[in-house]
Amino acid sequence: MDKLEHIGIAVRNLEQANALFAKLLGRPHYKIEEVASEGVRTSFFDVGGVKIELLEATRPDSPIASFIEKRGEGVHHVAFGVRDVAEQVARLEAAGFQALNKQPKEGADQKLIAFLHPKTTGSVLVELCQDKPTAKP
Ligand code: ZN
Repeated sequence: MDKLEHIGIAVRNLEQANALFAKLLGRPHYKIEEVASEGVRTSFFDVGGVKIELLEATRPDSPIASFIEKRGEGVHHVAFGVRDVAEQVARLEAAGFQALNKQPKEGADQKLIAFLHPKTTGSVLVELCQDKPTAKP
């Protein structure tokens, strides 16, 4: 893992949470992005190079909706930046961790991502993310 990239926080209402976190952090969010494939709307705050990612469900079968139903709002995942998600998934699976995504998938913020099962990581949902390689012209 190269760095702490962001902390994902599940919220019921993105507008209310944006206002709360803007007050808490002393700065506004800098973007909102919907990831339709995941059923989430996200907003981002930058705190000294580490992001806070607020996540709101956009449909009832979104993973964020079921998380909030079970556990309420709060910290949802911790994301580490890596150079190569696929390579790290292979390394971690060999070390006994269970990946939820065998193949990296598209996340918010121009990232390729994969999650590790919390049962193998001390109940912390861990996300790995890398910047999506830019298409060569
Ligand atoms: Zn994330």
